[in-house]
Amino acid sequence: MTLEAERDAVVQWAPDLADLTPGRTGNLSVRAEDAFAVTPTGVPYDSFDAEDVPVVDFEGEQLAGNMKPSSEVPMHRYLYRDIDAGAIVHTHSTWATTMSVLHEPLPAIHYMIVAVGHEVPVAEYAPYGSQELAENCVEAMEEADSQACFIENHGLVVTAEDLPTAVENTGHIENLCQVYLQARNVGEPTELSTADLETVEEKFESYGQ
Ligand code: 13P
Ligand code: ZN
Repeated sequence: MTLEAERDAVVQWAPDLADLTPGRTGNLSVRAEDAFAVTPTGVPYDSFDAEDVPVVDFEGEQLAGNMKPSSEVPMHRYLYRDIDAGAIVHTHSTWATTMSVLHEPLPAIHYMIVAVGHEVPVAEYAPYGSQELAENCVEAMEEADSQACFIENHGLVVTAEDLPTAVENTGHIENLCQVYLQARNVGEPTELSTADLETVEEKFESYGQ
C-alpha cells in the first residue's frame, strides 16, 4: 500500500483530533518524501481505515485512497512546500478559535510557547480550502518564525516534525490560549523576555528521558 506507515498514522491519530475540534472540523496530515497522507473530507474521525486515507502529491493530485481528501489540501501542500514540517494539524478548538476571532497573536505568556516559536501569529482570513488561505498561513508563520498560526475567524494550524508532536503541540497551544484569555479576563497578562525563551529552548535540547 502506498505510504502505508503515514496512512496508518493518520488513522491512529485522527481520534485525538476529534478530542480537539468539534464534529468533522479540522484535519491532519503526515508527509513522506514527495507526497502526504491526509484525513478524508467531511467524515467522523473514527470512521475510516488506512485504505480510505487519501494520498496527495505536492501538485495536489490524489495518488491513492478510497475517500476524497480534506478541503484544506492547499494549506497542507503550501505549508509542506515552504515550511520545514513532517506533519500538520488544523483544528477549530475552542480557545484557539476564540483567539482567531480577536485577530491578535498569542504572546509569550508561558515557556511552553517555545514548542512552536516565540508567538503564535495570525493569518489573514480567506475562505476555507482556498489557495489564498494557504498563502496567508505560510506568510504568517514565516514572518513570525513560528510553527503555528491562527486563521482569522476560523481556527489554528500547527506544524511539527512528526504527527505525535504536532498533536501534542496543538494541545499545548490550546491550553496556552485558555490561560491567556482567562488571565486577560481578570488582569493584564505578563510576558517572558526573548532571553527567557532562549534559555528554555536550550534546556529543551536535553529535556526528557
Ligand atoms: P475537511 O473536513 O474538508 O478537512 O474540512 C474541515 C475544515 O476544518 C476546513 O477548514
Ligand atoms: Zn477549518
